[in-house]
Amino acid sequence: MTTKKIRSNISAEAAAHPLLASDQARSLLEYCAADLRVCPTPEVWENIASRLKESVGTKAAIRSFPNCLTGAASFYFTDMHKSGCIEEQIVWAVQYGVLDIADALFRSVPHAQWYLGSVNLHWMDTIGGQVPRYNRAQRTQRREKVLRAKAKRDATEPVPLILHIPHSRVAIPASLKREFVVRHKKLSAHLAASTDHFTDELFDSNLPNTQALIFPIRRLAVDPERFERDALEPMAKRGLGVLYERGHDGNVIRLPISGARREEILAAWYRPHHDWLTQSVDDALGRAPRALVIDCHTFPDVPFAMDADQKVPRPDVCIGTAGIHTPVWLVRAATKWCTSQGWSVRVDAPYSGSMVPLKHNSKDRRVLSIMIEINRARYMELQGTQAVRRASFKKCKRFVSGLVATLRAAVARDNAVNNLKVRKRKSP
Ligand SMILES: [Zn+2]
Repeated sequence: MTTKKIRSNISAEAAAHPLLASDQARSLLEYCAADLRVCPTPEVWENIASRLKESVGTKAAIRSFPNCLTGAASFYFTDMHKSGCIEEQIVWAVQYGVLDIADALFRSVPHAQWYLGSVNLHWMDTIGGQVPRYNRAQRTQRREKVLRAKAKRDATEPVPLILHIPHSRVAIPASLKREFVVRHKKLSAHLAASTDHFTDELFDSNLPNTQALIFPIRRLAVDPERFERDALEPMAKRGLGVLYERGHDGNVIRLPISGARREEILAAWYRPHHDWLTQSVDDALGRAPRALVIDCHTFPDVPFAMDADQKVPRPDVCIGTAGIHTPVWLVRAATKWCTSQGWSVRVDAPYSGSMVPLKHNSKDRRVLSIMIEINRARYMELQGTQAVRRASFKKCKRFVSGLVATLRAAVARDNAVNNLKVRKRKSP
């Protein structure tokens, strides 16, 4: 038997593919094949496919999209084909410039919505491309071994963490871009100012027992942090509802969108994101007494014209709270960490609130939620419309990691004090 040593879990074909050479593509491929992942469940997979196709929007791109192996195809094709199909879809995303969107979508699929195989498909590369012939008992054994290792890794962090990252991505799907009424240059300025640049890098989503939910497109196109119905959303009166009509300076950027088109946009981008968030929280509550949602943002050092709080100087960190979901001890743990590191902090100022799924909001105290907003001056600057990392970026990342670890430790401590037991895991 020839043995070919491949350290990563991606197929030899993908490893050699010129379009998959970038760090982002490589890291996404690895993610999609780790922990026995094969492909998302059919409904979720089709949803991702339709969002990817809509992001490019050209007929040629849609025609060449590698179709998901769902429905009848799921019976004819093996796990190897299915995971190969994901690789082809990632190649397609690179080809049409939407890797960023694909990356956010695949990473945000709730863990329970991944179909898991029985052997790591790409191990076969290490034995010269032969599909390993395991009998049923061996397959079960291998599967259990991998899942046990994951459970062990997750158990090092007894508090399930959900990182909600709604404003970091920069893509705007073609169909939505057409609807803006300002010229390209002006639009770029709005985009640069309103994006929470690099937030997904500051908050590490590779931690054990952690689910990241990264909204795949720009907030200026759709803002998942707003209420769906304008009647409930206080910012809608200022033209900053779920579908922004005004930019950061208060000028009109898009005409009101209503009726069927509004419905179409919300169904494509807003609702799936919230469904996944709700599911992730429910998953977490299925295996632990409490779940911690961290709403991850950054804010400009100089207030926008549209900001309610115009007070300067602004703090280094702003902590946001959400009623019964943010106990005092959690806020205290956060502020204590900030001051211990010499960073100034304010609570619910200049921004307030934190994300809790509607299903649990003001009802379920097992869902803990806190917003962390970092002052952008601490880690980046805008050169024209280009966001550039400052030399202090790494230091800021370390600060954020420390803060996240502190919050998790505080929850674990409070669970212990209140004798909240970790429920026994359901066998997968
Ligand atoms: Zn934000």
